[in-house]
Amino acid sequence: MRWTHTLIPTLREAPADAEITSHKLLLRAGLIRKLAGGVYTFLPLGLRTLRKIEQIVREEMNRAGAIELLMPALQPPEIWQQSGRYETARDVLFKVKDSGNREWVLSATAEEVITGLAASEISSYRQLPKNFYQVSVKFRDEIRPRFGLMRAREFIMKDAYSFDVSDEAAQVSYQKMYDAYTRIFERCGMKTFPVEADTGVIGGKYSHEFMVPAETGENEVVYCEACNYAANIEKATSALPKNESAVNNSPIEKFATPGVVTIEALTKAPYNVAAAQQIKTLIYVADSKLVIALMRGDDQLNEAKFAGKIGTTVFRPATADEIFEATGAHPGSLGAVTSTCKNKDIRVLADERLRGANGMTTGANEDGFHLRNVSLERDIQVSQWADLRTVRAGEACANCGKPLKIRRAIEVGHVFKLGTKYSEKFNAEYLDESGVRKMCFMGCYGIGVTRTLQAIIEQGNDKDGIIWPVSVAPYRVCITPLNVDPNSETMRLAEKIYAELTARGVDVILDDRDERPGVKFKDADLVGFPIRIGIGEKSLAKGEIEIKPRGGALQTAKIAEAIDRIMPLMQ
Ligand code: ATP
Ligand code: MG
Repeated sequence: MRWTHTLIPTLREAPADAEITSHKLLLRAGLIRKLAGGVYTFLPLGLRTLRKIEQIVREEMNRAGAIELLMPALQPPEIWQQSGRYETARDVLFKVKDSGNREWVLSATAEEVITGLAASEISSYRQLPKNFYQVSVKFRDEIRPRFGLMRAREFIMKDAYSFDVSDEAAQVSYQKMYDAYTRIFERCGMKTFPVEADTGVIGGKYSHEFMVPAETGENEVVYCEACNYAANIEKATSALPKNESAVNNSPIEKFATPGVVTIEALTKAPYNVAAAQQIKTLIYVADSKLVIALMRGDDQLNEAKFAGKIGTTVFRPATADEIFEATGAHPGSLGAVTSTCKNKDIRVLADERLRGANGMTTGANEDGFHLRNVSLERDIQVSQWADLRTVRAGEACANCGKPLKIRRAIEVGHVFKLGTKYSEKFNAEYLDESGVRKMCFMGCYGIGVTRTLQAIIEQGNDKDGIIWPVSVAPYRVCITPLNVDPNSETMRLAEKIYAELTARGVDVILDDRDERPGVKFKDADLVGFPIRIGIGEKSLAKGEIEIKPRGGALQTAKIAEAIDRIMPLMQ
């Protein structure tokens, strides 16, 4: 490819709305352009890298025995109603209407479509296992599209869905995908690490996310350097010391706390109640019912854990009016002590850390008053004990006792054992060897292909621009003749090396622009071609060319040896 023939609109400065390095570089290197928030055009160079990543994904999926198909982006809403996700995923589903005012859902993912397909096309154990995948455009109405391709409204995902005869067989399919993902990200030149992930309302033990460590990542990962434990903070646990509050059998006492509506305020004089001695009472609305979460005053509720326990991700904090109606008090004076509750039917989830706690202080369900000497077991009717708290850095690892650390990361892939959740909704059944009807066991596996592209840049860059791994660079070699007159010796040699490398299957771009060397070098570094070959009169006079690996030191090579010197760098 010749530079003047393609379109590489490099920019000196990134547009102001690009916040993170990789987003800036995508724009500056002329790889993408924004059409609207979270919606991008891939320019020729960006598309080349995208295709290379997709190719790696396809090769590894095929190698792992998965079969490619392509499902529609337009989906009838009825299948989303059938799975129950029309409601639970409503905040991310894009909906459009046709001319007959009929509604359609744009594909955010494809469990509904594939499970319906399996239900009609798979009937016997002889057809199993099967793993279907596609690489296609997905649409999500993200609340906050940002960081370029990282969180887009329209993006490319590889999604795969496995069908098996049993849970054990599904585990084998899961492991194959886990291994394929490890290879895919390695071949893309990335450092990723798998972490245990939240299984949310589906439950079960098996879900891993593949994470790229990055300050700009939207996920927090809890990890242990001593034993390799790693989990998304939504799922992570720690080994907390048991509650050792001395037994306090004193009766509950009400005391006045005028104006005190925070945990913090109650820790101060004249009250001096440590946060760890307080009970935090949080009231939410889920499925139009109130539900209470009790936490120790110094702990944070983990919303993902809470969602898993109440069985839905669709919940919101109760409004002050709803709270007043149910308790007779305003936020800041709430408590779950049974004798003070107007409505005793509200479900109360209490964090495990409060088990056995006594001598606690909590709101009295009366504005301006709190209660002390509260015993969890004695005074509060807990519907369910659960792990609801968010782990903090420095807490002991549950496996080995060493202190846990927390770091930010970007999720690029996700593998998940689904069990029979969708099979049941769509009757994805098969007949076993003895003719008995059974449910298929499913798994689903996603890779954000466009997010991966950007994560590679987030991981590989310096002050001059992108540093591409050879495997996914838009072109592996950039030839930079300093004189582009077609009759010059410089250009003739450039053309010759271009032809020879192309013949050997190396993708090369020839910078045939009539520009100053400084401009050409800067652009080559900005785009980040792994190898730049410099050809100028000075080195030609010595019978040499220059070879500059991106991010490495300049080398010279005899013209006759040029190709043999370049080829090993292509590995
Ligand atoms: P997130 O928590 O980041 O929203 P998710 O859990 O919704 O991700 P999945 O439904 O598991 O994501 O989708 C599979 C993969 O698709 C993710 O691992 C991620 O790489 C990618 N992905 C998800 N949402 C987006 C988005 N809005 N823009 C770009 N890529 C995305
Ligand atoms: Mg999401």
